[in-house]
Amino acid sequence: MTNLSRAAAKAALEFYIDHGVDVTLQEEPANRMLEPKNVGMLEEPQSPPTQNSNIPTFQPSNLPIIGKAEATQEAIKLAQNANSLEELKQAIADFDGISLKKTATNLVFADGNPKADIMLIGEAPGADEDRQGKPFVGVSGQLLDTILSYINIARTDEAPEKSIYISNILNWRPPGNRTPSPAEIEVSLPFIERHIQLIAPKLIIFCGGVAAKSLLGSGDSISRLRKKWHDYTPQTQELGQGASPVPAIATYHPAYLLRTPAQKKAVWADMIEIRKKLDS
Ligand code: URA
Repeated sequence: MTNLSRAAAKAALEFYIDHGVDVTLQEEPANRMLEPKNVGMLEEPQSPPTQNSNIPTFQPSNLPIIGKAEATQEAIKLAQNANSLEELKQAIADFDGISLKKTATNLVFADGNPKADIMLIGEAPGADEDRQGKPFVGVSGQLLDTILSYINIARTDEAPEKSIYISNILNWRPPGNRTPSPAEIEVSLPFIERHIQLIAPKLIIFCGGVAAKSLLGSGDSISRLRKKWHDYTPQTQELGQGASPVPAIATYHPAYLLRTPAQKKAVWADMIEIRKKLDS
């Protein structure tokens, strides 16, 4: 490669990264103006094409894997049948109802101490997490570790009262770190709800608005959901029967703090509240 073409290739790659394009989906570029729109995932299945030969057909590989309702039922069944963390991880790996699985590099299941008193749930893996297969290992994760250290909590500690277990609503990275769609959240919910049941934490931290709203089934903003204790129980009926409520608190996501450092004070107040609850 000449210096000129190397520089041009580098500039093109930098342009893509700056615009959030950091995964390749296929070897050859596709002209979306000519092809039918790739509906991507989890939309309700389209009606089958009629016999009219004027209607163009397209390849089954471009169709959604399965419909959202069907995918959610399948996720519930798989989650219910998982009786250990290993079984749950395998069930998530085997589940084909979310097309993020096709674009992600690794399944991001959890990190930390499974015996910890606290479980923290974030939104979805980013690029670093996708590469390493572990949640919160990028810059947000570093800030999260620092915040937790203020209240003497570390994911590497072996003592349950000093450690934490960490996972996310989604186990696969959304391309370009986009916000998870409602359909992606819906089909992932049974898995994270079962994950919480298997860990059986004494206390839950919802890290950011997506985690708080999804797990509480609330339309309220994160600023409204903060500063109070919630009684968390699974929303999935099949998982919720007989479940005891777990105290849960919501706080701002570290990625938001990196953009809005003035809110660090609020998170500090949340951490003090968590420390008080742990000590009580
Ligand atoms: N943000 C999240 O919500 N989760 C991660 O694992 C990383 C970044």
